[in-house]
Amino acid sequence: MLVERVEVAWFTSGVRTSDVFELLRDGRPRTRAQLAEETGMARSTIAARVDVLLRMGLVAPVGGARSTGGRPPALIAMNPAARVVAGVDVGATHAVAALTDLAGTVLGERRAELDVAEGPEAVLGWVTSVVGELLEDARRPVGELAAVGLGLPGPVEHSTGRPINPPIMPGWDRYDVPAHLQRTYPVPVLVDNDVNIMALGERGAYLPSVDDLIFVKVATGIGAGIISGSRLQRGAQGTAGDLGHVRVSSGEGVMCRCGNEGCLEAIAAGPALAAALAAGGVAVDSTAGVVELVRAGNAAAVQEVRRAGRDIGEVLATMVNLMNPSAVVIGGRLAEAGEHLLAGIREVVYQRSLPLATEHLRIVASKAGAQAGVLGAATMAAEHVLSPEAIEAASLGVA
Ligand SMILES: [Zn+2]
Repeated sequence: MLVERVEVAWFTSGVRTSDVFELLRDGRPRTRAQLAEETGMARSTIAARVDVLLRMGLVAPVGGARSTGGRPPALIAMNPAARVVAGVDVGATHAVAALTDLAGTVLGERRAELDVAEGPEAVLGWVTSVVGELLEDARRPVGELAAVGLGLPGPVEHSTGRPINPPIMPGWDRYDVPAHLQRTYPVPVLVDNDVNIMALGERGAYLPSVDDLIFVKVATGIGAGIISGSRLQRGAQGTAGDLGHVRVSSGEGVMCRCGNEGCLEAIAAGPALAAALAAGGVAVDSTAGVVELVRAGNAAAVQEVRRAGRDIGEVLATMVNLMNPSAVVIGGRLAEAGEHLLAGIREVVYQRSLPLATEHLRIVASKAGAQAGVLGAATMAAEHVLSPEAIEAASLGVA
């Protein structure tokens, strides 16, 4: 018995402030006694850790627990209003920025028609001024901004925040995006590609309990954001999920803009569908045009989109076998064509993937839609601020 107690003491002395905060992140209020019980830690240790979190502002007292007499024990809960983060989704021709609290509640939003090809000075200049406006509108001082998350429409080296050879972003290659924004906002700046942040946004807003998810964006290009074991998987160089340039059987002889032959993107992305329809005499020259035709019930367009769905399904079936996700979410401009794209994808994935891999697999359309990117950018920023490493580092300042 005595020995057991000693072991418990050893264990609890190693419990950090961030461990206590992790428990409180679900938003449920608890008393110090409940926290002690849940962690198996001594009450004095819990009290010390909670004090640090209170001083950091990340948790706050709420209401009071019912008690059998005397002073009610204080309830503690996470305080999402403590800080704010900015999320920005820069697309090829438009941008959206939002200010959220630490739980992802949107406090304000701005949209603009903005060409990413104008270069980093112009685009990041817009980001800088719009974040300032959002802070002002929400009446939050600049000092309460904890981080900025930014999504860009091209490959990004996440560890440095620099775009690498982005095909549609002249002037951005290896540009130090965080340094630019930190001239005005001296906070962590996280940068990633658009489909990764869309995966984060979709999960955060609509699928918080799904730990294994593939988000597929089908638009001018095709790409995927992979969340496995509840973490976004970027790979060694940040190129994980690039399914647009996987070779498919029906793409034989079709050249891709990347220089290879038979890529999925070259036969199943928006421009390829528009080109195929145009070659058949249908007047259409854009992804948006294809979506319009499908919505109007154009038979040739419906058939093309369904065929694209089957081609995408061919690559996805392999991914499903390899990763065993519980949800595949289809987003991006072409997903707005509705059920036809999904039907084609489902047809092939359920036919070609292993039965056990698809037993509980859901293949669904994105619910976050055009908001997925901006929500995900804010989520990426908040996740960074609330990560155990960041909490530990910040706790040193108040302990
Ligand atoms: Zn390619």
